[in-house]
Amino acid sequence: SEKTMDKIVALCKNRGFVYPGSEIYGGLANTWDYGPLGVELKTNIKNAWRKKFIQENKYNVGLDSAILMNPQTWVASGHIGGFSDPLMDCKDCKTRHRADNLIEDFDGTNVAGWTNEQMMDYIKEKQIPCPDCGSHNFTDIRQFNLMFKTFQGVTEDSKSELYLRPETAQGIFVNFANIQRTTRKKVPFGVAQVGKSFRNEITPGNFIFRVREFEQMELEFFCKPGTDLEWFNYWRGFCKDWLLSLNIKEENLRLRDHSPEELCFYSKATTDFEYLFPFGWGELWGVADRTDYDLNQHIKTSGKSLDYFDPETNERYVPYVIEPSLGVERLFLTVVCEAYDEENIGTEEKPDVRTVMRFHPALAPFKACVLPLSKKLSEQAGELYAELSKHFLVDYDEAGSIGKRYRRQDEIGTPFCITYDFDSVEDGCVTVRDRDTMEQERIKIDELVAYIEKKIAF
Ligand code: ATP
Repeated sequence: SEKTMDKIVALCKNRGFVYPGSEIYGGLANTWDYGPLGVELKTNIKNAWRKKFIQENKYNVGLDSAILMNPQTWVASGHIGGFSDPLMDCKDCKTRHRADNLIEDFDGTNVAGWTNEQMMDYIKEKQIPCPDCGSHNFTDIRQFNLMFKTFQGVTEDSKSELYLRPETAQGIFVNFANIQRTTRKKVPFGVAQVGKSFRNEITPGNFIFRVREFEQMELEFFCKPGTDLEWFNYWRGFCKDWLLSLNIKEENLRLRDHSPEELCFYSKATTDFEYLFPFGWGELWGVADRTDYDLNQHIKTSGKSLDYFDPETNERYVPYVIEPSLGVERLFLTVVCEAYDEENIGTEEKPDVRTVMRFHPALAPFKACVLPLSKKLSEQAGELYAELSKHFLVDYDEAGSIGKRYRRQDEIGTPFCITYDFDSVEDGCVTVRDRDTMEQERIKIDELVAYIEKKIAF
């Protein structure tokens, strides 16, 4: 049987991972709320990232910068001038399209680096129709800025105009000197940040793949010019290994290096990590050598010095930057798609299919579920639940047959089901059932925390 988006979206909604936003008011298009299980999965994803990119990494430190920034930031970063999509409207059916998507969807032509005029000419030459009504009656292409605008304070005038940040990276660049001075870090070092970003996307969709409010996990790694390509390769490999260590299968991953034409003008090298979603390959992670572009832009715009004095060589330089930028929701979707499995544990004649989310145990919302065999054992099972809950998130379920309870936990990816039975009262042992192998083992209650912690370690 097949993994489809419909099944994955339904499971996410029915089991409390992801709900449509503002549902009782008819929703708000392309917004999503993360339910009791979704918030755990999301938190575990962010913690796994922080653990490997900050806690265990000798080069990197963390930051939590503000969403609202001085608008000069976006002048410097180029977002006010250049962060826009080429849009055209169909004059007949009034739908709005991205010109680049129109061409790429029509015949696969990669339009990276094309001007609006080139795209317009191509659309006319190939007689590309409006995908909604077939008409050829388009407006000219206009650039549409993707930043959300808002107002600070009591008056809505241009002086109080602010933007919601479209990426977390700029908060890192503007703090470069603060961080370097206060941590006394020597180049190379990195600053890692997890936080919300906002983009007024024209074509959101594919569930949580492209949304207007999302979270990013970004690292800006500062290194000496000339060593940047080495570090680019280092982080490219590091990011890939991290995904594999979370049980993302290599065959579902593709590292697509940008061709010289596709590269941003300031980038020396960029690799898109793509994942094979049920709807096709989509960008999961972008890793880019951004050179000294961002710091130089902030130096020019702010007039402040953001260079680095190397005490070993007595040189002064503006560091180069390697940026791995990953969307939390994109990785959430990847992890959910990768984990989804339907397994026939019956026979061919009498199939018995279980749905099981094979999450890496470190990512699973619940690490274990305590199941008393009978309601007569509620008290003892409740004590066990309370004890385990001190160490990790545990579920408790005493409704229905043990088999049904196992299935419910399989469906939300709980790695271990712990059955407390009448023998447990006598021998101080419980039966631990493994989600993936379905094998059962008798374990001493005293050793249970250590047993589970060893299995969920990341
Ligand atoms: P795309 O081409 O898909 O619009 P991008 O190349 O503009 O993405 P970046 O600016 O490189 O994306 O953003 C870095 C990462 O942030 C992306 O790899 C993705 O994981 C995440 N991201 C970007 N835009 C969105 C969005 N609208 N919704 C969810 N995640 C996003």
